[in-house]
Amino acid sequence: MSPLPVPRAEAVVDLAAIRHNVRRLAEHCGVAMMTVVKADGYGHGMVEVARAAREAGSAWLGVATIDEALALRAAGDTGRVLCWLTVPGEDHDAAITADVDVTAYSLAELAEVEAAVTRTGTPARLQLKIDTGLSRGGSTWDDWPALVEAARAGEVAGHWWVTGIWTHPASSDEPDDPANDSQEQVFRDALAVAEAAGLQPEVRHLANSAAAILRPSARFDLVRCGIASYGLDPAPGHTPDLGLVPAMTARATLAMVKDVAAGAGVSYGHTWVADRATTLGLVPVGYADGVPRHASNVASVGIAGRQRPVRGRVCMDQLVVDLDGDRPEPGTDVVLFGTGRDGAPTAQDWAEAAGTISYEIVTRFGGTRVTRTHVDSEAPA
Ligand SMILES: *Cc1c(COP(=O)(O)O)cnc(C)c1O
Repeated sequence: MSPLPVPRAEAVVDLAAIRHNVRRLAEHCGVAMMTVVKADGYGHGMVEVARAAREAGSAWLGVATIDEALALRAAGDTGRVLCWLTVPGEDHDAAITADVDVTAYSLAELAEVEAAVTRTGTPARLQLKIDTGLSRGGSTWDDWPALVEAARAGEVAGHWWVTGIWTHPASSDEPDDPANDSQEQVFRDALAVAEAAGLQPEVRHLANSAAAILRPSARFDLVRCGIASYGLDPAPGHTPDLGLVPAMTARATLAMVKDVAAGAGVSYGHTWVADRATTLGLVPVGYADGVPRHASNVASVGIAGRQRPVRGRVCMDQLVVDLDGDRPEPGTDVVLFGTGRDGAPTAQDWAEAAGTISYEIVTRFGGTRVTRTHVDSEAPA
């Protein structure tokens, strides 16, 4: 059997778009850049995205877990990497010996880092996170003085350098939300407490993509840009046009085209019934490949420069679109979402159709049956 000319289902990631976006964000923000590559680079491929981000000048990479940080090291990345989410008993030894900056939220985590430093004989790079109002990870305000005191004592004892102090915003995609002002103020107060304890962190940081783009006062020394690095809008309706380019195109190969009569029910439960004779196209991707089932009957795909609506329910492996009497050849390219330049939908369009955010659309597209291909639209031919 000869191989298919193109895969059945594919996520095509343009690394030139990643580089372009990282450079645009750095120009716009005017501070050091951390490109956030957790969750396999939001589904774009962590190692490839990391490499492109470094080429574009990203001084830092951000990941959630120690395992992700170690995977970057295993792939040859030697720059600054911050991770921020551990559970008790995780392998801090490996992170510390790999020169990864680790984050502590609590005295218990500091004790774990200290034990790892003792075992490995290697001082750690340590960052401290304060919860300024997201009520997710990070030290509470009440616990903060004790955490910074202990962190300073460990620094004096030679266990670590406190390289950073940081927090995370709750509502940066809603720039008028008063939480933005209050969180920034609590962060400034927390920094003052840390400085009074003798800490002099190299980087103070608060901003994710939305805050980095929309709130100059939140940029401090470093901004942590995830979604905008992938070319997607972190705050739809608020973001100025920075010329960011969506890096991922989700595509499939049209499997079949058929005629149906008026009255034909389409897909499970017949939630769509043809009100006229039409032609239908079978697109061989479904919710097992990360296509949201909530997009049933509401999203569209691009075929030959035209948007074609999804009819009926998205199934595990496939979905059906309305071709409205046209008959593209089976084998034709189907764009689920991409740059938006070719008339096809974007990940943001899918997010709106499915009642979610573009983060979830790109991060979930993929899995074991979707080929991921990296291209570089700026590479010399
Ligand atoms: C995921 C994450 C980011 C990136 O957020 P975006 O909205 O994608 O820019 C930044 N900081 C932390 C702590 C995160 O978990």
